[in-house]
Amino acid sequence: MIRRFDVAIVGGGILGLAHAWSAARRGLSVALFERDRQASGASVRNFGMIWPIGQPAGERLHLALTSRSIWRELSREAGFWLDPCGSLHLAYHDDEWHVLHEFADRASDRGYSCEMLSSEQTLRRFPAVVADGLRGSLYSHTECCVDPRQAIALLPQYLSQKFGVACFFGQTVVSIESPRLRTASGKVFEAERILICSGNDFDTLFPEELARAALRRCKLQMMRTVPQPKAWRLGPHVAGGLTLSHYTAFADCPTLVALRHRIETTMPEYVRYGIHVMASQNQLGEVILGDSHEYEEEIEPFDKPFIDELILDYLNKLIRLPVQTLQARWNGIYVKHAQRAIYSEQLQPGVFLRVAPGGAGMTLSFGLAEKFFAD
Ligand SMILES: Cc1cc2nc3c(=O)[nH]c(=O)nc-3n(C[C@H](O)[C@H](O)[C@H](O)COP(=O)(O)OP(=O)(O)OC[C@H]3O[C@@H](n4cnc5c(N)ncnc54)[C@H](O)[C@@H]3O)c2cc1C
Repeated sequence: MIRRFDVAIVGGGILGLAHAWSAARRGLSVALFERDRQASGASVRNFGMIWPIGQPAGERLHLALTSRSIWRELSREAGFWLDPCGSLHLAYHDDEWHVLHEFADRASDRGYSCEMLSSEQTLRRFPAVVADGLRGSLYSHTECCVDPRQAIALLPQYLSQKFGVACFFGQTVVSIESPRLRTASGKVFEAERILICSGNDFDTLFPEELARAALRRCKLQMMRTVPQPKAWRLGPHVAGGLTLSHYTAFADCPTLVALRHRIETTMPEYVRYGIHVMASQNQLGEVILGDSHEYEEEIEPFDKPFIDELILDYLNKLIRLPVQTLQARWNGIYVKHAQRAIYSEQLQPGVFLRVAPGGAGMTLSFGLAEKFFAD
């Protein structure tokens, strides 16, 4: 017997889960297929940062803020940890300080919620921050932290208990011909709409369409410390000057050109490996550190220890952790489209490719899914 659903979703990462939630809360019957016994792609390898401040003003910021309120609702409902911790961009150079001011001057008109802090104010509020050379900081109220391993494990349980979503883990979808999909074990299902949220797998489903789509894979190196002692808390997510040239939110700040020039001339190895340094802390007290960016043909299975060293060197100029002992190092791969927040195409009647939320999948997925089902 063929089981039928209104919506079938391929992929149990955050993008697939967000679409499952949006469909199910509208009363649609949903099946979710995940190849692994537990999702183990980018969605469990990230910082857990819900990061609206990185999104450009306008639609993407709106999507991020929509996602943020859904994350908050779901953390209460599904019982996973979420900390509305905010974020802190630290400035140790005049150009960084100018960029932050230029951003902050227009921020509230553009929909951001943030404030500039002097070095004294920063150090008073956030004792982990390194005082030496500090010009000041930008504190933003909107960022949140989740523990991706916990949230991505609990969301499927919640979806099936609350909405009856049928979750098929350990089931690879190997072919789709509208309205049918077939798994590797030979099971066949039908759905009016089939959404493919397959992350960085470009080979199993519609490889030709994915090859044509001008998507780029990006590999990031990450680290996690042991739990910090005595319930020590970092507070907000922390970022430094390198991050200002990474996120498009800061792209039209006039001083960014000078900042980039300084970084290119004085820190070429950071530019070469796309390193910018961020830190977040989960509910276990562990601090997540990263990251670097290597693309497509540069990606190799093995990590580069010197990249981790560069990240830690820079981190030590921003914050002091009570304990910097690492308990894990890993890499993750996300997929990015040059212009779009998500790559979305209809491939057959009712069959949609929904991939490549880039480095902002945790930040944008719920907003993207809500938009898809609302349209
Ligand atoms: C190191 C790192 C740090 C990041 N930090 C952040 C952050 O702090 N904040 C933020 O907003 N974003 C962050 N990102 C980006 C974010 O993690 C990704 O955008 C997001 O996780 C992508 O989700 P996804 O569901 O598209 O992909 P994935 O998480 O890769 O999920 C795809 C799933 O599909 C499954 N699948 C694939 N093909 C099939 C098939 N044929 N049948 C069944 N199942 C299949 C895979 O097994 C996989 O579980 C980070 C990314 C990385 C790599």
